[in-house]
Amino acid sequence: MTRAEEGSSDSCVVTEPIIIARSDHNISRANISKNAVKVLYRLKNAGYEAYLVGGGVRDLLLGREPKDFDVATDALPEQVKAVFTNCRLIGRRFRLAHVHFGREIIEVATFRSLANTDTKGDRQIENGRILRDNVYGSIEEDAQRRDFTINALYYNIEDFSVVDYADGMTDLRNGILRLLGDPAQRYREDPVRMLRAVRFAGKLGFIIDPACERPLPEMAPLLSEVPASRLFEEVLKLFMGGAALETFEKLRHYHLFGQLFPATEEALSHEDHEFPITLVNRGLENTDARLQAQKPVTPAFLFAVLLWEAVRRRAESYENEGLYPIQAIQEASSEVLSEQAQRISIPKRFSYPMRDIWYLQPRFLNRSGKRPQRLLTHPRFRAAYDFLLLRAESGEVEQELADWWTRFQKEQGQGQRQMSEQPRRGRNSRRRRRRKPRRTAASPSENE
Ligand code: ATP
Ligand code: MG
Repeated sequence: MTRAEEGSSDSCVVTEPIIIARSDHNISRANISKNAVKVLYRLKNAGYEAYLVGGGVRDLLLGREPKDFDVATDALPEQVKAVFTNCRLIGRRFRLAHVHFGREIIEVATFRSLANTDTKGDRQIENGRILRDNVYGSIEEDAQRRDFTINALYYNIEDFSVVDYADGMTDLRNGILRLLGDPAQRYREDPVRMLRAVRFAGKLGFIIDPACERPLPEMAPLLSEVPASRLFEEVLKLFMGGAALETFEKLRHYHLFGQLFPATEEALSHEDHEFPITLVNRGLENTDARLQAQKPVTPAFLFAVLLWEAVRRRAESYENEGLYPIQAIQEASSEVLSEQAQRISIPKRFSYPMRDIWYLQPRFLNRSGKRPQRLLTHPRFRAAYDFLLLRAESGEVEQELADWWTRFQKEQGQGQRQMSEQPRRGRNSRRRRRRKPRRTAASPSENE
């Protein structure tokens, strides 16, 4: 019995692939990174098989610009290392060769096998989950180990053909994301595949095949088993791929978002019915627009957006209990962050600036004396101001406050002094959210 016959009726790899000749597809070497082409040729000239695989092939076939180029080969990691001087072996879970060309890294992976026990390497599986996978095999086996049919297409440097073991070309044409093998089993093996399904659906505008879609809500809790550091990387890919808003909506739809950001999900579930457009929606829309315009997006700002609803709600209740706005924000932030760290580990170089963005929010309320000018010189002013604009757009603070800061930045010394000398309403001129016209317990800082 072949491997393909072992599975259920699900999409499987066939041993006889469909070969799409050079003349019948649109991939040209001119569109592949020069360094990736170099790696492919070097491996071929050393007597190994070498293919471009994964997103590089998929995106080129779709006429999109690939994010990176991955290479698959029958050379073992040590053999790859011997071919290149600029090569490092990395990874424990998957042993990979990284070939370095300045800032570009071409990832070279040896074909993986399907066998559970094999003397050629080691694989560790626990509760159906693959923990370590260094068993090497043939290209057919490698194809079957990949996640989606459209990610299992190989571009062969030998004859420039595309090799298709899983009828990925048909799915590519029809815009369908289909896992290889039994979906539930594939999700169990690696729960991150659930996030990848949603990510590719959002990024490529594809639909998830119903059989792969069905298990998602029920299997979403498996994400809690994924290391928090890996989830950080995945979250960046989910929200920095240009389709953040759509991805966010899909993640919520499949109950995956709550696994990644439980406190935010909780906060949103309170507001959903009355106020479907929250700061998260606006912020993600904004992220997509910035990427579209080729402007930078920082993970700190992104996470500030993703966690804000939770922080804001808690800060609000602390203010109701009598804390000053700044104290309330600090208290709420540290609570939300320590809970969040259980799921996703945000490196300090991002979490510190993210906290600054939040901490600076109450300081925008002080518009008199020297304080506005001092705030302007804060290294995180710009990000915090952008965040304030989002809050104004989502009706959380008065637009007038945001406009004041917009004008204040444009003014020079004298103009700024005039603006900050103008009498303001009471000392605590904090405006409450328009969304909540009434509040039961008045906090000491409220004098409207
Ligand atoms: P992109 O780089 O555009 O995000 P990609 O498909 O290239 O998309 P990578 O994470 O670079 O994604 O992975 C390269 C290839 O490795 C994939 O196309 C897929 O074939 C395989 N792969 C990656 N992650 C998994 C996984 N969790 N399970 C099975 N195969 C995977
Ligand atoms: Mg890739």
